[in-house]
Amino acid sequence: MSADDPRGLSADSLLVALSRPREPGAPVNAPLVLSSTFRAGGEVGYARDGNPGWSDLEHALGVLEGGHALAFASGMAAASALLETLPPDALVVASRVAYHGVHVLLREREAAGRLRVRAVDTLDAEATATACAGADLLWLETPTNPLLGVADVVRLAAAAHARGALVVVDSTLATPLRQRPLELGADLVLHSATKYLGGHADLMAGAVAGPTELLDRVEATSRLTGSVLDPFAAFLLSRSLRTLPLRVQRQNENGRAVAEALAGHAAVESVHYPGRGGAEQEEIAARQMRGRGGMVTIAVRGGGAGAKRFLHRLQLVHPAASLGGVESLASVPRETSHTHLSEADLKSRGISEGLVRLSLGIEDTEDLIRDLRHALDAT
Ligand SMILES: *Cc1c(COP(=O)(O)O)cnc(C)c1O
Repeated sequence: MSADDPRGLSADSLLVALSRPREPGAPVNAPLVLSSTFRAGGEVGYARDGNPGWSDLEHALGVLEGGHALAFASGMAAASALLETLPPDALVVASRVAYHGVHVLLREREAAGRLRVRAVDTLDAEATATACAGADLLWLETPTNPLLGVADVVRLAAAAHARGALVVVDSTLATPLRQRPLELGADLVLHSATKYLGGHADLMAGAVAGPTELLDRVEATSRLTGSVLDPFAAFLLSRSLRTLPLRVQRQNENGRAVAEALAGHAAVESVHYPGRGGAEQEEIAARQMRGRGGMVTIAVRGGGAGAKRFLHRLQLVHPAASLGGVESLASVPRETSHTHLSEADLKSRGISEGLVRLSLGIEDTEDLIRDLRHALDAT
């Protein structure tokens, strides 16, 4: 955990300077420390309590989010450590379309009598505010998955705080470069660093950022239960963070270009992209995001069969789950990320059979649009 950068560097420079030892003869990259135990008398004695690879990483993530940060073995490890800190029988208000792992985790904790869950549509600020009465925690995810709606963090955080609830924002889809939830009033921010922060589909990691008062208990849980980040994954993640601003900028440009290019295609029924869902959504997105990100979801004509034909014809874009990597991916939420929902739930949440979620990578924009158009022409 760490706060402001003492050198006053901007995020881009800080990420490049990360883990660069300064002594003459030192390697330019900080060495990977693979040791489960350390000689007695030092600050850390055992690997569950610390690794030199975490500190720079946590410092960088803390500065990016405007708080302190903790690294975890995965996004889900971070989410479960957070929920673990809640008092028995706590009431959690959460989106009806949260990330499927989080959704199932909340349901299971509820079934086990550990928590109570109140599901809401977080794009309906009025209903969400009302649901926060008596709640301990409001769990937001914005942009939402897979329809990329934008929840109004400023308004919802104020409403939750007025009713005594803490606010967590899962900001995985936005990255700290597109939105800074702590500045918008959230108490804690969660990331699956497996996605944009890692960015190369080669590691699993998670992070939580916020003030130390709240993080101390999350840290104690994480150290106790061993949901800590593997040193090699920490090394890879530090390496990835150096290029985060460049990657995210290109992914953002590709997201915007693809959303525009596919909107008029005859085989596309609708295009979902942060801010596209009407004037109010545009106003919230413009206010709380800097750029709209690299995710675009489209409804393809011809339902499930149309979506399958589309995926099958793609040559540059890989048909695969997950998101945020340098390579563009396409997935059908009904078959990958939202398999836990019943048919009625899928319908009521607008997750239709022809829905395809695209995670745009850093390939050339025109190549991507050509590939997507060519595959759509066949449906
Ligand atoms: C992937 C993801 C998670 C879970 O993270 P893992 O690293 O896969 O454990 C949580 N929230 C969102 C929005 C995600 O996309």
